[in-house]
Amino acid sequence: MLVTDARVRAAYAEGAGIYRILPAAVALPENQDDVVALVRQARESQLALIPRGAGSGMPGGNVGNGVIVDLSTGFSDLVIDPQTRSARAGASVTWAEVNDAAKSYGLRLPPDPSSGAFATSGGMAATNAAGPRTVRYGSVRPWVVALEIVEADGAVRTVRRGMENGERFALSRDDRRLTANRFPKTRKSSSGYALDRFAESGDEVDLLVGSEGTLAIVTEVEWRLDPIPPAVAGAALGFADLESMAEAVPYLVSLTPSALELLDQSLLQFVPDAPKVASLLLVEFERETAAAARGVVGDAVRGLKHAVIHVETAVNRAGLEQLWSVRREASPALARLPPTQRSLQLIEDGCVPLDALGAYVAGLRTAADRRGIPVVIFGHAGDGHVHVNALPDMTRDGWREALRGLFDDVTDLLVRLGGVPSGEHGVGRLRAGILERFYGPEVMQLFRALKRAYDPLSIFNPGVIIPATDWSPMAALKVGAGAAAIPEDIATRLREVERSAAWATPKLELAH
Ligand SMILES: Cc1cc2nc3c(=O)[nH]c(=O)nc-3n(C[C@H](O)[C@H](O)[C@H](O)COP(=O)(O)OP(=O)(O)OC[C@H]3O[C@@H](n4cnc5c(N)ncnc54)[C@H](O)[C@@H]3O)c2cc1C
Repeated sequence: MLVTDARVRAAYAEGAGIYRILPAAVALPENQDDVVALVRQARESQLALIPRGAGSGMPGGNVGNGVIVDLSTGFSDLVIDPQTRSARAGASVTWAEVNDAAKSYGLRLPPDPSSGAFATSGGMAATNAAGPRTVRYGSVRPWVVALEIVEADGAVRTVRRGMENGERFALSRDDRRLTANRFPKTRKSSSGYALDRFAESGDEVDLLVGSEGTLAIVTEVEWRLDPIPPAVAGAALGFADLESMAEAVPYLVSLTPSALELLDQSLLQFVPDAPKVASLLLVEFERETAAAARGVVGDAVRGLKHAVIHVETAVNRAGLEQLWSVRREASPALARLPPTQRSLQLIEDGCVPLDALGAYVAGLRTAADRRGIPVVIFGHAGDGHVHVNALPDMTRDGWREALRGLFDDVTDLLVRLGGVPSGEHGVGRLRAGILERFYGPEVMQLFRALKRAYDPLSIFNPGVIIPATDWSPMAALKVGAGAAAIPEDIATRLREVERSAAWATPKLELAH
């Protein structure tokens, strides 16, 4: 059942993100019974299991030196129930597959990760994934109705909202107070166990969503679906400076947009026909009628006419697609960077309270300048959440130290601004060692107690969320001289998967 062939192990050594770690073996379960057997074997032999979907997660929760459990095929049942507006999706079913099937009933899963073409239901639930529409509809957490899980003792359980089946772990009144005080007040977070949400709901689902494969293996997700809104309109708004963009964001959020995305000049410079502005905001409004959607675009433009230097509007989906093409065009441009310069996701997912967005972007630019590392900044302005890709020149002496310095600077900045290190990608291995900076030692103790309650032998993804004793965020990089040796042809194909975002490629194909 465990594949230890060297080429197969190499094919699973990388996910998206910065790491290359050769697993001891790979398991390819075909059904729930296989997963149960694997968990029992892991208990007996003290194996670490690393659950994995498409491998598109960024912070290294999908790689490790234990056994990779590939759930990207084999769990592909999908049933839409239009009566209850829900979808039962096996762990392998992607966001796109759920939405394609739901569409014929006029339904959809509103949070829309850009990786929806390949992100699996198991992976999305495990990372509490999100997307542009999260500004209105939240991350995936509230859309998870139930999870079917295999637990660390091999038991199979369905955890359903409203059942208050949180008997494995409870918060005392003091713990609740601590949680309320210590959790940063951001609009989004995929940074550690969501004790704040659990304290409010009492729903075990809230603990399991975002647990990054550290508490249980998810074999099925029941999603709540929502009707597709009939009308949509939007605008692209350009600003001459950061301050006016940051001031515009709370105003636009007050108009209830369904997306509010930022393209910073650091990214716009890679798009030949992009407007010449310091910041571009792309805003989308979904409404019940076309008149209402157009009306709110008018409100947005009028309300900001003193602040904007560039305005384009769109009154329907096709027009919006056209406006948003500027965002899509940035990715291929970045993929054409010279081979000596890599786009690395190390500080890529910080999220701050909305009123700190301008200070965060300014602080990011200062830190990048100080460390001499170019960055591109873009993302979910309406949630105070921006992605930052670092583009170090790896022929430059000291790039590694500079990158580590940037990681530390941005951590300090996020702590100072009351932010979290991850808005949607998760903690993984990369950010496990900095969580305590954000939550303090007492909440970290609660995180450890929760992990022990679910997984006393630590067979599920050790080193993820709860840091390993030798945590080192820059160890095991996929780039540079110290990268683990894997066959050249597999390294080339993994690089191609990354460049073309072909994460849906079955990883076994890379080995053959
Ligand atoms: C180009 C690109 C764009 C992206 N855009 C977005 C975006 O817009 N929004 C966003 O949120 N993310 C985005 N991501 C990150 C990533 O796609 C998401 O985190 C996604 O939810 C991961 O799904 P996956 O199937 O690839 O999971 P993996 O990467 O395989 O795993 C991610 C984590 O989930 C755990 N896990 C996976 N499956 C299971 C399971 N069945 N049971 C228990 N644990 C499991 C793993 O152990 C790991 O910790 C993007 C990534 C890329 C490469």
